Amino acid sequence: MSTYKFYEQVNLNFDKAAQYTRFDKGILAQIKMCNTVYHVTFPVRRDNGDIEVVEGWRVEHSHHKTPTKGGIRYSHKVDEDETMALAALMSYKCGIVDVPFGGAKGGVKISTRDYSESELERITRRYTYELIKKGFIGPGIDVPAPDYGTGAREMGWILDTYRQMKDDLNAEACVTGKPIQQGGVRGRTEATGRGVYFGIREACNNKEDMKSVGLDTGVEGKTFVVQGLGNVGYHAAKYMTEAGAKLVGVAEIEGSIYDENGMDLEKLMEYRKDKGTIIGFDGTKELDNRDDAFYLECDILIPAALESQLTGDNADKIKAKIIAEAANGPTTADGHDIMKKRGALIIPDTYLNAGGVVVSYFEWLKNIQHVRYGRMSKRFDESSYKKILGVIENISDRKFTEAELESLAHGADEYDLVDSGLEETMITSYQQIAEVRNEHKLDDLRTAAYISAINKIGTMYEQMGIFP
Ligand code: NAD
Repeated sequence: MSTYKFYEQVNLNFDKAAQYTRFDKGILAQIKMCNTVYHVTFPVRRDNGDIEVVEGWRVEHSHHKTPTKGGIRYSHKVDEDETMALAALMSYKCGIVDVPFGGAKGGVKISTRDYSESELERITRRYTYELIKKGFIGPGIDVPAPDYGTGAREMGWILDTYRQMKDDLNAEACVTGKPIQQGGVRGRTEATGRGVYFGIREACNNKEDMKSVGLDTGVEGKTFVVQGLGNVGYHAAKYMTEAGAKLVGVAEIEGSIYDENGMDLEKLMEYRKDKGTIIGFDGTKELDNRDDAFYLECDILIPAALESQLTGDNADKIKAKIIAEAANGPTTADGHDIMKKRGALIIPDTYLNAGGVVVSYFEWLKNIQHVRYGRMSKRFDESSYKKILGVIENISDRKFTEAELESLAHGADEYDLVDSGLEETMITSYQQIAEVRNEHKLDDLRTAAYISAINKIGTMYEQMGIFP
């Protein structure tokens, strides 16, 4: 059993990669440390009139770029160590995918199931108030986003609270992952899962990587298992199945299920919504223990729930050839070593789940620009394409059908632009990490991803100088 806490796990990965960089130990220590840690307690009135004290954190890991950026997690397991680890991961993640933010993370120690919607709203607004009071939120300071246990609804409450307290022209940019009507960007909800899919697709298209695990290239026909059918897990599974991969196993809080013929994801989601469980879904077998889906024979395992799931205790039982880390920190250092020894390809969290922060960056840009993507160009592009198609019709005998005209003369709207920016980022970043891996003759994408992040952040610190 691994005795390292989550932040230590992150730092073990950092130290392993730091050896391959040129920075002195002072710069490395500065990159590694969490710059500011804010711990707060505040009272909340329950619906029955009782007062309860709630505990929360906001950690800003690195100010080499501002604002800092990172999600807010609601879970009874939240603590300072976890929030520090997740904040550090955010800095490395932003570095890897070239998003110009420092890393941060927030957490509130509550189990959302135990609170009504109005209680959650009071908790969120009070937590936001505490962040405002201490200068831990603002479009140019620190910009939260959703994470485990939070979503667009909470981000909307955060914006509304911020707006009530601040006269700020750029207020909308104080938080991302908002509902569209409140300045959110199309494509943010599914961004992390969509990025996970793009990342897996890139790995599956890499001949060298597929050869190393004895698989053919391409996503189509590959079998996969998901842990956690929340925002990230569901969307990753959706795009995987749409690309022709087969979902053969799912692990959720209530247990694990299996169907070697593949499950219909949408029907499974409907079933869970209706019955409150995945157990008993048509055609599936229930496995003995909650995590047993981990140990199924499959090509790809996607842990998309929580940290420290694939550990020294269970990694030797995992048969998947590719581990696609959709969650933050799902693999401990000893779990990683065991799976690498077996020859698995591990696509690391710092890269694979960065789609959320990439699209959050697009949302933040939209908010400070005060204009929707595509608003200025969509119609202009469409009419230009139509003119070109008209010329082609005139100089040839070819007449385009209405359907052809519609698809060929389509001007990019907000979703198209966001999706293409996300796809480009995930493809380019995979190639960059693979290049670093080859340059240092490593067999490990995680270390390569950390090297890439340390190089980018370290260079910034060198250029900034150290004050005073
Ligand atoms: P979520 O709350 O939407 O979903 C989490 C899912 O995991 C839920 O369905 C829950 O029932 C399930 N789950 C919890 N404990 C489990 C267990 N022990 N076994 C099996 N299933 C379990 O959360 P999310 O936003 O999808 O986040 C999931 C992971 O992805 C977290 O590690 C988070 O930090 C990471 N992440 C999220 C985002 C984002 O944009 N939401 C971005 C980057 C990383």
